[in-house]
Amino acid sequence: MCGIIGYTGKRNAREVLINGLSRLEYRGYDSAGVAIVEDGDVQIEKKQGKLSVLAEELKRSPLQGTSGIGHTRWATHGVPNDVNAHPHYDHRKDIAIVHNGIIENYQELKKTLQTKGYKFVSETDSEVIAHLIADLYTNDLCDAVKRAVKKLKGSFAIAVVHKGEQGRIVGARKDSPLIAGAGDGEFFIASDIPAILEYTNKVIYLENGEVIDLKEDGITIYNSRGKKENREPVIIKWDIKQAEKDGYKHFMLKEIFEQPEMLRRMFTKRIKNGQAHFEELTFSKKELGKIKKIAIVACGTAYHAGMIGKYLLEKIAKIPVWVDQASEFRYRDPLVAKDTLVIAISQSGETADTLAGVREAKKRGAKVISICNVVDSSIARESHGVIYTHAGPEIAVASTKAYTAQIANLYLFTYYIASARGIKGLNEKKVFAALKKIPGHAKNFLEQHHSKKNKISGYAAKFHEYYLARNNKSCFLYLARNINYPNALEGALKLKEISYISAEGYPAGEMKHGPIALIDENPWVVCIATEAATHDKMEANIQEIKARGGIVIAIVSEGDGLGEDKSINYAIEVPRVPEILSPMLVAIPLQLLAYYVAGEFGYDIDQPRNLAKSVTVE
Ligand code: GLU
Repeated sequence: MCGIIGYTGKRNAREVLINGLSRLEYRGYDSAGVAIVEDGDVQIEKKQGKLSVLAEELKRSPLQGTSGIGHTRWATHGVPNDVNAHPHYDHRKDIAIVHNGIIENYQELKKTLQTKGYKFVSETDSEVIAHLIADLYTNDLCDAVKRAVKKLKGSFAIAVVHKGEQGRIVGARKDSPLIAGAGDGEFFIASDIPAILEYTNKVIYLENGEVIDLKEDGITIYNSRGKKENREPVIIKWDIKQAEKDGYKHFMLKEIFEQPEMLRRMFTKRIKNGQAHFEELTFSKKELGKIKKIAIVACGTAYHAGMIGKYLLEKIAKIPVWVDQASEFRYRDPLVAKDTLVIAISQSGETADTLAGVREAKKRGAKVISICNVVDSSIARESHGVIYTHAGPEIAVASTKAYTAQIANLYLFTYYIASARGIKGLNEKKVFAALKKIPGHAKNFLEQHHSKKNKISGYAAKFHEYYLARNNKSCFLYLARNINYPNALEGALKLKEISYISAEGYPAGEMKHGPIALIDENPWVVCIATEAATHDKMEANIQEIKARGGIVIAIVSEGDGLGEDKSINYAIEVPRVPEILSPMLVAIPLQLLAYYVAGEFGYDIDQPRNLAKSVTVE
C-alpha cells in the first residue's frame, strides 16, 4: 500500500519524482526515497517521515540526473525508518528497486541468497527483490527482472534501475497497481495516474504478470509468457486541478464540498427518460432477472455503503441480500453460486481483500459486478461488469465523496435490477425526480457550513474543550435506525480515522442490550433522528440518553421540533427528504463533524496516522 514512481526523459528526475510522490503520498507516508542514475552510479536518498522531510534533505544535497525511481512507504515488514525506507540496493549497489506489495516467500529467497553471500541491511521483504535481480543479472536489466518475478510469490508492483543502464527503468506488476505514461520523449511509471498527470495524459494500464521496459526512446511491454504486447495508451480526461486542493485547506474538505456537483453530474448521466442507465454494464436485464440473491463484499467505508445497498435492494428490488466484509468473505467458504450476484465495492478498485473476494466469487460461479471509482482498476477489470462512480480522484485518506457516490449508484442500480426482475409499482419517474433534488439540498446545506465558523465547527470546538477538561475521558457514540444505521457506523469510522477519538456506531434499538451502560456525562452521542418511520423511537432513545447525563448532538430534519428541544444539547438540521433518500444527505454533517473535530486537535487530516488510501495489502 505505498506509492511508486519512475521517470526517464530529459527533465530533472529528482523534481519529477518528488512532484509525483507528492500526489501519491495518500497511499503511504511513513517514509520516502528516490534513486537516481547518473554517470554509472545509482544514488539513493531516503528518509523516515513525510515526503517533506525527504524534499528538505534533497534541497541540501540535490541528486542530479534525468532518470530514476521513487517511493512513499506504508510499512508492512519492518518499522518505518531510514534503512527500511525504499529504494533498496542490492549488496553491490548496482541495482535499486522500489516495491509496493508483500513478497510472501521472502524468507525462503533471503536464505538462499544469504548462502550465496548476499548481505541484507533492512528488515523489509522488499530488499530481497534487489538481491534476486542482481543474482540473475547478466547484462540486461529487463531480462533479469523477467526471470526474477517468476520466483516471487505474493503481490508486487516494482520499478528497478541499474547503474550501468542509465535512462532505463524496468517495472513489473502482480496484484498491485502499476500504470505507465507516455510523454514526448519521456516516459513514466507509477502506482496511480495523478502522479504523472501533470506531464502526460497518455496512460497505459499494465496487466497482471506483465513486465515493462522504459527507455528514453520508448516503452516495451511483455506479457507473463515473455511475449511482446502492443498496447495503445488511453487518453485520461481528468484535469490536474481535480487532484489539487483548489483553495481548500485540505483535500478532505474539498472532497466533501464536491459532493453536490458530483451527485448532480451522476444523476444527469445515469437517469434518462425516468430510467436508470448503466452504459458500461454489459449485463443484460434478462441475466440480472435470473439472480436469486446478492452478496455485497467490501471493506471500510465501502462496506457501509454496501449496508445501505442492502436496505435498498431488499426493500425495492425484493431480493435477499447479505453484506460481508471482504476480509471475512474470502476465508468464510461463502455460499455463493451461479444464482448469486456479488457486488464488490471499492473506491480504488485495488483493495486487496475485495479483489480476493471477487476472485473467490468467480471461482464459485457467481456473477460479479463491481462499483469502483478508479477506471480500469484491478477489481473493475476482473469483474464481469462494472459501475463507475465517476467521483473524480479522491485524495484524502478518509473517504467522503466516494461514499456518497457509491450510495447513489446503489440506489440507481436497485431500480435497475428491480425493473429487470419485473417488480411492479416502482414509480421511477417520481422517485428519480425526488432523487435529482438531493444535489441541490446538499449544496444548500454545505453553503450554510462554508464559513470557517459554522455550527458544526462550533460543536467540534466545544467537544475539544470538553475533552481536555475531562482529561481526555470523552468519546463518541453514533446511533441511528434503519437505513441510516450504516451512517452511524460511517460517522464513527470517520471520527476514528482522522481524530483518533474512540467512537462506536450502534443501531439505536440495541442500546439497551449493552451500550447504554456507557452513558454518563462523558460520551457525546450523535443521534441521527431525521424524518423516518422510526422517528419516535429515535426520540425515545434521545430521552434515554439525556436522562443518564449523556450529551446529544441530534441530526434532524429541517423544521423538526427536535431542533428546538432544549433537552438536546446540539442540533444539526438537514433538508427534509424522504427517509429512503436521506443517507446521502445525512452523511455530510457526519463527515464535517469528523473533519472539524480532527482540526481542533490539529491532526494531519488528509494523512491520518497508520492509514493509507488504498489498502493493496492484506
Ligand atoms: N512490503 C513493503 C515494505 O514493507 C512495501 C509495503 C507497501 O507496499 O506498502 O516496505
